[in-house]
Amino acid sequence: MASRAISDLHPQLQPLAETFIRRCRDAGVEVLITCTWRPAAEQGLLYAQGRSAPGIKLTHARAGQSAHNAMLYGSPAAKAFDVLPLVAGKPVWDLGHPHWQVMGRIGMELDLDWHGHPRASHREFPHFELKDKT
Ligand SMILES: [Zn+2]
Repeated sequence: MASRAISDLHPQLQPLAETFIRRCRDAGVEVLITCTWRPAAEQGLLYAQGRSAPGIKLTHARAGQSAHNAMLYGSPAAKAFDVLPLVAGKPVWDLGHPHWQVMGRIGMELDLDWHGHPRASHREFPHFELKDKT
């Protein structure tokens, strides 16, 4: 079962996610976290969709390879979260809506990797990821 809890994010990402949500709200954008951590098995099912199973492709990451699958000392510690902007309590799916750009700008100001950026390896507007600083 996938999680929406900030406590299932990597310790480095938790305060950034909280700041992200607050700054978006200050900018007039209400955000909904749709996913923080997800188990590798569930990632495998997502990966199969649009490939060996019917539907549209939802992810580029195989089981265990997604930043959403990350663990730390045996506990969930996702290095990415997915969000949707809300307008009047309803999710905005239209990627042309200006709220997406507001969220993207704020995420990048927090030094997160935003996959909605035109130079992202693959476009995935809801996805914000902790940068790998190794
Ligand atoms: Zn994601």
